[in-house]
Amino acid sequence: DQNSKGHTASSFKIPTIKFTKLFINGDFVDSLSGREFETIDPRSEEVIAKIAEGTKEDVDLAVHASREAFDHGPWPRMPGAFVRYKWNRRLVASVCFFGLEILILFCNIILKLIWDVNQERGRIMMKWAELIDENVEEIAALDVIDAGKLYQWCKGIEVPSAASNIRYYAGAADKIHGEVLKASREFHAYTLLEPIGVVGHIIPWNFPSSLFVTKVAPSLAAGCTMVIKPAEQTPLSALFYAHLAKQAGIPDGVLNVVPGFGPTTGAAITSHMDIDKVSFTGSTDIGREVMRAAANSNLKPVSLELGGKSPFIVFDDADIDKAAELALLGVVFNKGEICVAGSRVFVQEGIYDEFEKKLVEKAKAWVVGDPFDSKTKQGPQVDKKQFEKILSYIEHGKREGATLLTGGKRVGNKGYYIEPTIFSNVKEDMVIAQDEIFGPVMALMKFKTIEEAIRSANNTKYGLAAGIMTKNLDTANTMSRSIRAGIVWINCYFVFGGDIPYGGYKMSGFGRDSGLDALHKYLQVKSVVTPIYNSPW
Ligand code: ADP
Repeated sequence: DQNSKGHTASSFKIPTIKFTKLFINGDFVDSLSGREFETIDPRSEEVIAKIAEGTKEDVDLAVHASREAFDHGPWPRMPGAFVRYKWNRRLVASVCFFGLEILILFCNIILKLIWDVNQERGRIMMKWAELIDENVEEIAALDVIDAGKLYQWCKGIEVPSAASNIRYYAGAADKIHGEVLKASREFHAYTLLEPIGVVGHIIPWNFPSSLFVTKVAPSLAAGCTMVIKPAEQTPLSALFYAHLAKQAGIPDGVLNVVPGFGPTTGAAITSHMDIDKVSFTGSTDIGREVMRAAANSNLKPVSLELGGKSPFIVFDDADIDKAAELALLGVVFNKGEICVAGSRVFVQEGIYDEFEKKLVEKAKAWVVGDPFDSKTKQGPQVDKKQFEKILSYIEHGKREGATLLTGGKRVGNKGYYIEPTIFSNVKEDMVIAQDEIFGPVMALMKFKTIEEAIRSANNTKYGLAAGIMTKNLDTANTMSRSIRAGIVWINCYFVFGGDIPYGGYKMSGFGRDSGLDALHKYLQVKSVVTPIYNSPW
């Protein structure tokens, strides 16, 4: 029976796993070493499938394919524009002679031939998005069994948004242009925006679909070719996306997917001499490794989207009910496995007691269980390591002297389920108020003045996101300008969109994902200068 704190075995029919090999140069292939690794279902702790494990040699092959596709292939040279050479033959035929029709047919064949080598990037990406939409349920189910995410979320939001984000960048592919510069009277200058080259993407396991697309789509639109390593915990949907990309017409070698582990496959990407840029999302510790490897190899530029310990700040004048609902969501959404989790909640003293009461009520009613069940609000943590790490932080919080208001325990005895957990009486220097826990664990604190709220919010090495709950415009404006974070949500939380950039200040990294800012990460600016003789101006 499903109850508010229990989980049931799922009756959902799990799709057959179709893709388990490396995707290199347009084909699914075994790894050269023949090695495989297991991917585990966090609901049952059982093995879902064995996946080919990429090693350095496989990364070399994938980079070689990407390099060829970049240096000699059609992708970077295709127009981004939606140019269509399409003739309405029926209409023309109805008003023309038979002979002319033959001529048009012939022209069409020639145009088709030209067309085939001249497909535009934007149109192919649109086709890819369409294929994703047609396969939403299957992809969503893969993310559920691999990562323990909610099926309703994956099917209703994450996978469809992945398709929309591809469309966003498909639409941007024909809007990549430089500027005309009036250098001087004697010289005319302009800038060209060129694709940066072969990109290495490394992503974590918490949003397997949206992060895959967040990295791949803008770099594809820019005209880059790439090798992407999904997290070892969640390789399934990435391989499915690769299969659909091929179906859509993305040329061989442009998109390569090499699953594997960080210190081997990941490190082979970051230290590769023939990769021109690395885009990484993951922990701050590994971000440091990525930068070091880039510096020690070919000085490739990197962009890093790293950890966070984001503040959620509730002022006395806020709608308490709404604030409690969003504060809870801020830390339990996706089981707290989200870099922008609002894991430090600061509440102004005037409403603190009422807020705390409502928050605890809501946390107790939060349904943890089978992620395929539509009543469930929170599935299992991604894997054993993460599960144990969270439970050990909870123990640490108790030892540090914080008060455990609710939660703190495992749910059931199979699968990596953890109760929504709230600590009060937290001091800002406690480990649970400083470390990124990446689980459903909240540190609740009280404040008096706006100055104190600003100081406390910024009292972290991270700077990814912040939430502010107030009806006062001045307070909202002062706070949003004072907080050092890449995204600030006022009277809302977790609002993302293809056109909304996000990324870090301080040790949360640098560079932005999403929006046009992300597109520019994958472009180089080249200035071209030429003399003008006899210029009148
Ligand atoms: P998390 O702690 O959330 O798993 P990580 O930063 O460890 O985050 O992992 C994020 C991604 O980085 C994963 O794909 C992982 O395999 C990869 N990774 C881990 N270690 C390295 C490394 N030394 N070099 C490159 N990639 C790595």
